[in-house]
Amino acid sequence: MERRDKYNYYLDIAQTVAARGTCLRRNFGAIIVKNDQIISTGYVGAPRGRQNCCDLGYCTREKFNIPRGQRYEMCRSVHAEQNAIIHASRADMLGATLYLVGLECSTGNYVVGANPCSLCKRMIINAGIAQVVVRDTRDQFRIIDVQRDYVEKDESLDEIKGY
Ligand SMILES: [Zn+2]
Ligand SMILES: [Zn+2]
Repeated sequence: MERRDKYNYYLDIAQTVAARGTCLRRNFGAIIVKNDQIISTGYVGAPRGRQNCCDLGYCTREKFNIPRGQRYEMCRSVHAEQNAIIHASRADMLGATLYLVGLECSTGNYVVGANPCSLCKRMIINAGIAQVVVRDTRDQFRIIDVQRDYVEKDESLDEIKGY
């Protein structure tokens, strides 16, 4: 059996988490790791007690053909990164790594060029997370440095929508 490198080991777990998501359009899974310990996990889902996209049988963003990266007020879900962040303590998240995997519901393929949305980026910054690792293929991934890539390179100033 193949022994996975550490990044892909955690990304494989984030992918399992993503598959628990409730959206009908795209599902993401996030896990936060600190000192080789998983401190939190999160997937896409409506706030507790509210109906999910999969309960309603439609995704509002999908229904109105809302382009990627725009109009997140039309998304009824708490994002995977947000769920992972609100279920961890700040002390645990300081200097931690967030692993992120996105899956297209229609095909099961990885989301091409997946990234946290602009709102999740703000929360990642304030949570004190140091690094984000995003899966591109089964074996390939990008390592994002939060300070350099989200704080110093502030895409919100260029009105880039993110994602
Ligand atoms: Zn949805
Ligand atoms: Zn987001």
